[in-house]
Amino acid sequence: MSDLLTNSQLAINGGLKVRTEPQPKWPIWDETDAAGLDEALRSGWWGVVGGNPGEKIVEFERAFAQFQQAKHAVSITSGTAALEIALRACGLEAGDEVIAPAYTFIATASACLMVNAVPVFVDVEPDTYNIDPAAAEAAITPRTRAIVPVHVGGCPADLDAVTALARKHGLKVVEDAAQAHGAEWKGRRVGAIGDAGCFSFQSSKNLNCGEGGACVTDDDTLFVRCWSLHNVGRLPEGAWYEHPLLGWNYRMTAFQAAVLLSQLGRADEQARRRTENAGYLTRRLDEIEGIAPNRVDDRVTRHAYHLYIFRYDSAAFNGLPKSDFLKVLNAEGIGCGAGYTPLYRNAAFEKPDVYSAAFALGRKIDYSKVCCPVTERAAAEEAVWLYQAWLLGTTEDMDQVADAILKVQQAARE
Ligand SMILES: *Cc1c(COP(=O)(O)O)cnc(C)c1O
Repeated sequence: MSDLLTNSQLAINGGLKVRTEPQPKWPIWDETDAAGLDEALRSGWWGVVGGNPGEKIVEFERAFAQFQQAKHAVSITSGTAALEIALRACGLEAGDEVIAPAYTFIATASACLMVNAVPVFVDVEPDTYNIDPAAAEAAITPRTRAIVPVHVGGCPADLDAVTALARKHGLKVVEDAAQAHGAEWKGRRVGAIGDAGCFSFQSSKNLNCGEGGACVTDDDTLFVRCWSLHNVGRLPEGAWYEHPLLGWNYRMTAFQAAVLLSQLGRADEQARRRTENAGYLTRRLDEIEGIAPNRVDDRVTRHAYHLYIFRYDSAAFNGLPKSDFLKVLNAEGIGCGAGYTPLYRNAAFEKPDVYSAAFALGRKIDYSKVCCPVTERAAAEEAVWLYQAWLLGTTEDMDQVADAILKVQQAARE
């Protein structure tokens, strides 16, 4: 902190950076990962052989189901594919409506369109950026079949409210838990609290193998359907050339599973460090005017902290817009991101006619007319993302984040 007084000139104006070290290292791996990969290679069992998935794949699915406290897990090629499979497994049909938050990654909604369902965007809570249950309820129509709560940044959405709503209206709940490995709601890990949950193992994610995904569920029927859909419509006990369902090949390889198994061995320790650092960072940021860490509900017993999200109020920074705040902060060596734009604004949703099956049989939504004010404000003015690898660092790393923000504030006010 004392350095601040002497180094008050912003790095963007030629001053000294608060942080000169590189951004935190990610991914993290060691000889365990290399040995697992080597084992998978030498086994010759690189994927499904003679109808049996490789040993590493079976082992990973068992370990991941256990990790998420789910009865079943199906390993899949990506989180996007996992969402598509889970929605189709839930029996969604063309024209059915799926309620999804507007503040999320495109796959949450594009997966709906992939199964010819109509995504209906609703707004998020102003202090968590997770789906607003009241907005979700207001969006229910006779065609609504499912809700996809997203655990944004790894912070579980209000699953009590979402599951109650689903029970009341006979809807399926597919959790988009792509960012929420190991996260818990009231002591229970997310994913199988809803009917099914989807995870991503893409490079940036807390548990990663480059590319990959999984569906988890406690429901035996849904499990068989997900398994079948990811394995060209075969059945677990069926013959190789017997395809009762129409599925795709969305199978993971043994190499991905091998890396995931060794990564899983680090997951709890990494989660503990992220939680500890996030707690410290929150205490520091709570003291800065105009910076509000997102609220963590008391019922969240473990936040996965894929992202540490805080809300920026430019009024406390002499009107400095969020985009400039980020530029200045990044120049200080603190790599923060602006986060999502409102999903319905993406060009992919601009031409509803493209999705003829969904809109021919269902409600035709003009997404250019959708407006979710909380999402708009979060995207344009408020939301700042600090990526998970930062939280694997030290208390000094957290201090650098807070000190850099204070330095920017001081400079903005002068
Ligand atoms: C990463 C992510 C996905 C998609 O996962 P991929 O493995 O990249 O396909 C879906 N939803 C959310 C919220 C994500 O963060």
